[in-house]
Amino acid sequence: MLPTGGWYAVDFLHMASLHSRTQLSKESIFAHMSRLAAAHGAINLGQGFPSNPPPAFLLEAAQRAIGVVDQYTPPIGLPRLREAVAEDLGVSPEDVVITAGGTEALHALAESLYGPGDEVVMFEPYFDVYIPQTRIAGAEPSMIPMRLTDRWEVDLPALERAITVRTQAILLTNPYNPTGSVFSRSEAEQIAALARKHDLWIISDEVYDELYFAEPPVRFRELAPERVFTVGSAGKRLEATGWRIGWIVTPPGLASKIAGMRQWSSFCSAAPLQAAVAEALPIARKTGFYQELRESYGRRKDLLEQGLRSLGLKTFAPAGTYFLTALLPDLDAERLVQEAGVAIIPGSAFYLQNPAPRGLFRFAFCKTADEIAQALERLERYLKQIKA
Ligand code: GLN
Repeated sequence: MLPTGGWYAVDFLHMASLHSRTQLSKESIFAHMSRLAAAHGAINLGQGFPSNPPPAFLLEAAQRAIGVVDQYTPPIGLPRLREAVAEDLGVSPEDVVITAGGTEALHALAESLYGPGDEVVMFEPYFDVYIPQTRIAGAEPSMIPMRLTDRWEVDLPALERAITVRTQAILLTNPYNPTGSVFSRSEAEQIAALARKHDLWIISDEVYDELYFAEPPVRFRELAPERVFTVGSAGKRLEATGWRIGWIVTPPGLASKIAGMRQWSSFCSAAPLQAAVAEALPIARKTGFYQELRESYGRRKDLLEQGLRSLGLKTFAPAGTYFLTALLPDLDAERLVQEAGVAIIPGSAFYLQNPAPRGLFRFAFCKTADEIAQALERLERYLKQIKA
């Protein structure tokens, strides 16, 4: 029972208050749309997580590890997982830090690489965690809009113009979330050259590194190993986004510094799941799992793309990721969930300093073909209904 009476009211006045930084604790667009989708029984083509279970070889490895690998691992990660990641990417295990998913990896990097007064340049549309993480670290984002013609294009002269003496890092994803685009080799080389010229870090979020539909994406690390931090994700690669196992490949000599920062948040990632991913990474590589994944996602991408086009909608073909952007002018994402039963992410959620293209939405096609087909039917019905 709470005490009643005058003294309690006085005590209430002296209650501690939250730091103004908690302005940044507002529900993310992905959590928001997933919650709305569940509440309205909608098909969720919003948040990027697969509908299907992870591969059996991963699940079996986890079952074997629970009861065996149960205590803290070193903050830098379970040695055999650091080795497996290093082997897979052709880097030294000394430069690998294991994290609780890509999100914690990016957070540890933000905390480690910049602070008050610093600026971080990034492209717009952007993946949502980049802004709050930059600001929690005390720095300010500087956004370079991508051009949208028949496809998404990066504006490299604008990138150079945005760099100031305060700029510490260029933050990007490749393949790129939310556009699904992939940097060409020449674009990547020019970005690496800019980073070298202005002495900047590059944080390259490569969690979709195995999800591409044409040429494999350039690995930024290969262009400037001394200044590139690469972020990777077992959740994205092995279809287990809730496991929260990710990694960072650091420039030589910096892994223990970054791992030292994440000691103060999660300390280490789930130990048995690290062991399972260590076992699964070489199996995925050897058995052609990623190739199958690409083929299966390629089919679902085509299904969604053709379906949207046949509804007369403009789509922008992705070269990677499991996201597709399209224009659905005059539709509201929240009404769409309630009235059409389809959840997708509004483009405005990916813009901070520049206006979002009118009617831009992101669709996730990491869902079953059946869900995609049903979402298309629902959308068709809804579009007819609002026209009538
Ligand atoms: N990467 C996922 C997406 O873009 C979401 C991750 C998250 O919710 N933080 O949909």
